[in-house]
Amino acid sequence: MQQLNQLIQEASSLAMPSAHVSEVHRVLQICNACRYCEGFCATFASMTRRLDFTPKDIHFMANLCHNCGACLHACQYAPPNEFGVNIPQAMAKVRLETYTNFAWPRPLGVLYEKNGLALTMSVSVGIGLFFLALLQVNQGLLNTNTDGNFYAIFPHNALALVFGIVFLGAIFAMVISSIKFWQTIASDPATLQAGGDALHDALTLKNLGGGHQAGCNEADDAFSLLRKRFHHLTFYGFMLCFASTSVATLYHYLFGWQAPYGYTSLPVVLGTLGGIGLVIGPVGLLYLNMKRHPLHGDKNQKPMDIGFITSLLSISITGLALLAWRETSYMGILLALHLGFVMGFFLMMPYGKFAHGIYRSLALLQNAIEVRQGKSVRVGAD
Ligand code: SF4
Ligand code: SF4
Repeated sequence: MQQLNQLIQEASSLAMPSAHVSEVHRVLQICNACRYCEGFCATFASMTRRLDFTPKDIHFMANLCHNCGACLHACQYAPPNEFGVNIPQAMAKVRLETYTNFAWPRPLGVLYEKNGLALTMSVSVGIGLFFLALLQVNQGLLNTNTDGNFYAIFPHNALALVFGIVFLGAIFAMVISSIKFWQTIASDPATLQAGGDALHDALTLKNLGGGHQAGCNEADDAFSLLRKRFHHLTFYGFMLCFASTSVATLYHYLFGWQAPYGYTSLPVVLGTLGGIGLVIGPVGLLYLNMKRHPLHGDKNQKPMDIGFITSLLSISITGLALLAWRETSYMGILLALHLGFVMGFFLMMPYGKFAHGIYRSLALLQNAIEVRQGKSVRVGAD
């Protein structure tokens, strides 16, 4: 336990306010006087509970912002006005600092700035090629005697061991980062009720509603619910795929039921539905990402967004292809590629866009605690 505490302490601490934190501080001072947007989202509501903003407040609020863009298009002081108030962009830049500062191990935080399409695909394809080489050495690329059984190609226990180690390593890194972030932003212990509120807000993406819950802004000041819908398809698709793998693992180890499972079995149905969601959602998010108004976010983070979305899309496409062609001689090749994309995703999970879900959920929890405590104004304190 002492070693764990030491790891957490080493994970990060907020240094002196950076230029990005100072910029958020500047624009929030203007917003707190203006308050035109105070009903838009939880970020503005949390602003009205404060008279001043410490770096901790700013990291909390930056991760509470869902980057819907509504406050940029509503703002009379947005660029080219001389005040240059751009809340979504300022918050996005601080979020990148959160990811980097709280990464564990800390030196790997630099990956957030490099984790674009090229790095993500290089890692995934490299691992896929490694599995292809194993396949070629052991039984040749085109094996026709597998009967749709993945584990006739790569043994189940070996896959479970290797993927389990990588997955648990990624989870461990994210837990350390999360604890440190929570210790930094939390004002009070979480209650069950606050946890329920935060879970509701996270699962419904309440704060992607923009002004009056009409949705986000994309290329201009028109509201749209598309990003919310595509995000839901992506998230719930991912969770269904995760459930599919979990059920298959239980079948294997608890009941001794060996794969392959029928097309109407629970793991295959869950995986198919999840895979379809994980194709439609990321394609939609990719399209919206390309047409987003350039002032909404931090252009330096676009490669990370695109790398993450493409990684999810590669997993779902190869997964569905694997299911469709599992009884052909191409199964081994498709399995090797699919495993490469899954392993690449696990490796990058703590150092890419995946982290936004964790930090945002913790920010929602802190927000729920504040809301449940009432509307009293908080004076920022370190
Ligand atoms: S974003 Fe602009 S309009 Fe909205 S509260 Fe801030 S200063 Fe006012
Ligand atoms: S971009 Fe959207 S979520 Fe972020 S502060 Fe503005 S209105 Fe709130």
